[in-house]
Amino acid sequence: MQSPALTDTDSKDWRRKYSEVVHAMEADERQYQAQLLTLKRLIGRLCLVGNGQSPQLDEVLLTLKEVITREQVPAAELDSIAAAIASVVLEEERRATDNCATPRQNTSAVAATAVDPRLLDALSRLLGELRRDPELIQSIDKLGSELAMVATTAMLSPLVQQVGVFATQRIRNLEKLRSGLEKLLEQMVARLDEVAGYIAGDETSRQQEHTRRAAFTDQIAGEMQAIGTSVEASDDLAQIRTQIRSRLDSIGRHLQDFRQRETDFASTAQQRATEMRARITELEQETSALQQRVEVEKRNAMLDALTQVPNRLGWEQRIKEELQRWQQFPQATCLLTWDIDHFKRINDSYGHTAGDKVLNIVAGRLAKGLRSNDFLARYGGEEFVMILPATTLEKGAALANAIREAVAKIGFHFSGKAVVITISCGLTLLCEGDTVTSAFERADKALYQAKQNGRNQVASG
Ligand code: GH3
Ligand code: MG
Ligand code: MG
Repeated sequence: MQSPALTDTDSKDWRRKYSEVVHAMEADERQYQAQLLTLKRLIGRLCLVGNGQSPQLDEVLLTLKEVITREQVPAAELDSIAAAIASVVLEEERRATDNCATPRQNTSAVAATAVDPRLLDALSRLLGELRRDPELIQSIDKLGSELAMVATTAMLSPLVQQVGVFATQRIRNLEKLRSGLEKLLEQMVARLDEVAGYIAGDETSRQQEHTRRAAFTDQIAGEMQAIGTSVEASDDLAQIRTQIRSRLDSIGRHLQDFRQRETDFASTAQQRATEMRARITELEQETSALQQRVEVEKRNAMLDALTQVPNRLGWEQRIKEELQRWQQFPQATCLLTWDIDHFKRINDSYGHTAGDKVLNIVAGRLAKGLRSNDFLARYGGEEFVMILPATTLEKGAALANAIREAVAKIGFHFSGKAVVITISCGLTLLCEGDTVTSAFERADKALYQAKQNGRNQVASG
């Protein structure tokens, strides 16, 4: 009898996919940690610059600083800190309004204080980080434009509080995402156990079937032997005939029982096989859904929210791969570091929103014309890095100079005035024995030289 095919190739295949997902999740977990760390650093920096605005605010910021240094950031505690900031801010505002309402009194120090540019800088970086969250993009952009209009600390306070609320939400969303993935993984482990159970059950059924067949064969052999013995022992033909008939009846019954059991077994096995296939299909669907989710998260985590080019994390992964490739198949590969000249002046003169626009446009210009194997990332702030495989130093320098000239010709306008923006570049070739650090440092040193030589130029080293 043909038993239904229960292949365990399905299960092996599944195990492979499962272990791929687990690896992807581990990488994802590291990225979440990196993002959380950035958030914590940014909040820490915010605390630092917010310090000294008012004694009550200082006290709350101190608690905030303590909370974010913990390994597990308690979202509920962050919530209550955000509420405390809100009430301090309200209190400050009320006091400021009272002071303004009394004509003979001086205007409140809080209301009149100009905003510390470091505070704006920290806030704008924090907003950039929070913007990674698709749920927050709209609110963050709105807040970003409100921030651009701020002139005094009193105007700034409610916005700072709002940023705090969004930061709490982001941390919460990150934790939620992580625990969501963990839950899915647990579910998948349970399903895997189930499949393993089916396979083990199937094996037991096969063994039972084997035992049943052996017992049936024994029964038939026993009946045949009994026939032989009774024929030998008796001379009476009629008696022999009766005995043989009774033995044949008995064999018939055994056969019938056996057939019945075989049929039962076949339908149970069929059912088990169908159930198992259904389980495997479910698992495959869950696996691929999870894989897609992990992929999307991974891509987002590697992308700079402002310029949409790969970020530092993306760069670290790519340069490692590129160095490994280079060690196996050495070929002229250029590494370039870029830095916008006097970028601080743009922020100081035209505000952070203008600065952000410049970053975006420059990133777009840097990316333009790159070949599919070339790579560009925002290293941080107004610094970018580029990898150009299969490119000699001469070709790399020519390309860098062409990009540099194109950036200088972009033609930015702020407050109706044309402003020339330039960019400097450090260029180097990957060398024997290079590490990520040594290669980057050589390019960065060349960039420093370009700055020293007067900016808006490409230097190689
Ligand atoms: P140099 O020519 O020597 O590079 O001078 P610089 O002014 O460009 O360099 P500096 O390192 O002094 O200033 C960089 C500024 O970039 C400081 C920081 O406020 C600003 N910055 C960093 N990240 C961002 C960002 O995401 N958006 C905006 N608008 N500004 C940023
Ligand atoms: Mg710089
Ligand atoms: Mg610069």
